[in-house]
Amino acid sequence: TAVKSLIIEDGRAVGVRTENVKTGESQDYFAKATVMGTGGFASNLDMVLENRPDLRPHRILEGSHVGAKGDGHHVVQEAGGTLTHMGDIWFYSFAIPDHRDPNGRRGLVIRGMADAVWVNMQGHRFHNEELSGGGSGSKAIMAQEPAQCWAIIDGTMREHVTVGDPYYQKEGTAVRDVEKVAELLEISPYIGRGSTLESLAKDMNIPVDTLKETIDRYNSHIDSGVEEDPDFGRPLAGRQKIEQPPFYALNYAPLARKNFGGVKTDLRCQVLDKNYQIIDRLFAAGELAGMAGGHINGKKGLEGTMLGPCLFSGRIAGAWAAQAAGFGRGFGT
Ligand SMILES: Cc1cc2nc3c(=O)[nH]c(=O)nc-3n(C[C@H](O)[C@H](O)[C@H](O)COP(=O)(O)OP(=O)(O)OC[C@H]3O[C@@H](n4cnc5c(N)ncnc54)[C@H](O)[C@@H]3O)c2cc1C
Repeated sequence: TAVKSLIIEDGRAVGVRTENVKTGESQDYFAKATVMGTGGFASNLDMVLENRPDLRPHRILEGSHVGAKGDGHHVVQEAGGTLTHMGDIWFYSFAIPDHRDPNGRRGLVIRGMADAVWVNMQGHRFHNEELSGGGSGSKAIMAQEPAQCWAIIDGTMREHVTVGDPYYQKEGTAVRDVEKVAELLEISPYIGRGSTLESLAKDMNIPVDTLKETIDRYNSHIDSGVEEDPDFGRPLAGRQKIEQPPFYALNYAPLARKNFGGVKTDLRCQVLDKNYQIIDRLFAAGELAGMAGGHINGKKGLEGTMLGPCLFSGRIAGAWAAQAAGFGRGFGT
């Protein structure tokens, strides 16, 4: 059952209009207070690009769960609520398009690539690969033209690759399914392969000499025993050279993962209109409300700074919604 709209009477939220997604049947539910908690919009590419028009020319991937379509943002906005900081979206750098998606929109998050060397679509290194987070790695990729890169590994490194998708994990666990990951490396059209660096470069459509120079130079830094690569400052302790065939190049593109902006609320999680006046009996919590309030994380977040405020704002919204409905004393009173 999907919420399609809020029912507002005399400026007060009194319930929701829903639709049964299988039958199309409409049903209204009434309540003394309503809490919206429909999550983010990082799996709605149109909405991501609407809020980050600068990324329109580039390949950007959808990367939250399938329900993170931003329905709630539209529903709250239609009821008069205000959205804020919608362009503050957290992008992962380490993702390739999911070849199983006929629309080419969804991405697969790739991990276990500690020794990968990143080169841009022209075959040049451009970044300290150690800094692969949203505030560093994604930004560096977005500064390339086009905003993509190849993450190159060799045959000794493929054993560590994991894919953040249940299909590539043993059923019901987060343990990698070795055969399925190996299959992905062999069949994805977004992965270049080669038994030599020359054939890899051809598969990547990059001049052979350029790729060879880039990899030879990187390998020479490791051979020389320097602590950091002099080009981009990557710490080299424990890093492996790219030298054992077969070689793979994964075509990374920025993947929208989390939303830092959303529905603007006050400290009681009451939804605010464009004049920052509350909409009576309407509350919003979680990622829909930028984790809390509209933008509690600011522009950046660390892994783990979403779930906490989502839960916390849910408790606050729930307590004040109950209070508005005549139960309890609200939160922290
Ligand atoms: C793969 C992944 C890993 C993550 N890992 C971490 C982590 O390690 N640490 C961390 O802090 N954060 C992490 N996050 C972020 C965090 O999980 C989310 O920010 C958080 O779960 C959001 O919680 P929520 O309850 O607000 O929304 P959600 O968990 O997204 O729940 C919203 C629900 O509403 C449903 N919904 C949407 N629209 C409608 C509608 N119209 N009608 C009815 N239902 C609707 C959705 O289907 C969904 O079930 C991760 C996110 C992803 C995608």
